[in-house]
Amino acid sequence: MPLPDAALSRLAIDGGRPVRSAPMPDWTAATGRRFGAEEKRALARVIDSGRLWRVGGTEVSALEEEFAHLIGSRFAVASTSGTSALHLATAAVDPDPGDEMVLPAITDWGTAAAIVATNAVPVFADVDPLTACMTLESVVRVITPRTRAVIVVHMFGGAADVDAIVAYCRPRGITVIEDCAQAYLTVPPGGEGLAGTRGDIGCFSLQQAKHISAGDGGLTVTDDPAIAERMRLFADKGWPRETGVRSSALFGMNYRMNELTGAVARCQLQKLPQVIEDRRSIGRRLLAGLDDLEGLRLASNATPGSHTFWFFPLFLDTQRLGIDYRTFTDAMTAEGVPAGGYLGVPLYAMPPLMEERVYGSTGFPLRRPDGSARYHWGDCPVAERLVGSDLVVVPANENLTEQDVDDTIAAVRKVHDAYA
Ligand SMILES: *Cc1c(COP(=O)(O)O)cnc(C)c1O
Repeated sequence: MPLPDAALSRLAIDGGRPVRSAPMPDWTAATGRRFGAEEKRALARVIDSGRLWRVGGTEVSALEEEFAHLIGSRFAVASTSGTSALHLATAAVDPDPGDEMVLPAITDWGTAAAIVATNAVPVFADVDPLTACMTLESVVRVITPRTRAVIVVHMFGGAADVDAIVAYCRPRGITVIEDCAQAYLTVPPGGEGLAGTRGDIGCFSLQQAKHISAGDGGLTVTDDPAIAERMRLFADKGWPRETGVRSSALFGMNYRMNELTGAVARCQLQKLPQVIEDRRSIGRRLLAGLDDLEGLRLASNATPGSHTFWFFPLFLDTQRLGIDYRTFTDAMTAEGVPAGGYLGVPLYAMPPLMEERVYGSTGFPLRRPDGSARYHWGDCPVAERLVGSDLVVVPANENLTEQDVDDTIAAVRKVHDAYA
């Protein structure tokens, strides 16, 4: 083997030659999404029908049926976002003010918003250092007599140990909600069924960045007809339309998905299995190309076979490399393979929670009766370390070619080797 050319091994951020100059497929643009003729035809169909409203329409109700069938649930209820999909779920739990719901310290803000919006208190469980998901142990540690629900988040396309959490919660009357916004068709190991069907309620997002998208949108699944009915009412101002009586049967919002969104989502649903297959093969190639690096741990190794690679998460051995994710991702981006961190801080450190600023200056529902702070730095040390220093998320787009994947591998290896 010839010795590596110094200009090739020198990092682009230090003036070396970048691994690539062509832009990578980008989920914010057409290059990184699979929108096409099908979606255009579907939109034209809805416009031509003159009915853009789901009430009396056909698209959103068909989407609900098709999604429930695909996921393996009895019922699906569509809504306007992943956050509203979660709000349908937390509202169905019907907590009293001050009741608690457990969630992981690393997740999207929408998971916490759905709890606070029911006047319940978010209680944070720490995460596993290899999956960034909550664990049974971390959940059990924060359960109290006021715990009404646990929201299990399947991070980055990898599976949390949801079956163990369900086995603990069921006999205690605690509802298990699965947040699958990053985990379409993920198969949690050790049981039957997809993520979203293992707990009581499963929530999905159709936002631009997810495996499939309709711009925005949400879907919530359950096998329980009573929960499904509550969620349907909650998403439609509590209005029991089938009765013909215009009255609100329960407190509800307007989270109705419209027919344009529903029509696009149906097309995306058709494409989902291929998107997942492509992401899995890209994920396998990335894994094989990076498996031997001493300064990295690969999150997807923890759940082989189940991962659907929303992102490809890496955990840096910051001790060994002497750098954190900021330096690593700046160097990768300079190589032509953009990468980033996730959140930067755990959810509880974000201002609405840490400063107890939800409903005006009341501190409600977070402030403790004795006025002591509810959330503190150090509450979830593993989560703080991951999002604050170790965690790198590399895009794992379905439109990556083999060359794109190999360039991604080359960029990670080059940056790793420069610091190792
Ligand atoms: C994206 C996401 C959400 C929120 O979905 P929106 O559609 O953006 O409201 C919730 N939870 C997780 C884990 C997510 O990734």
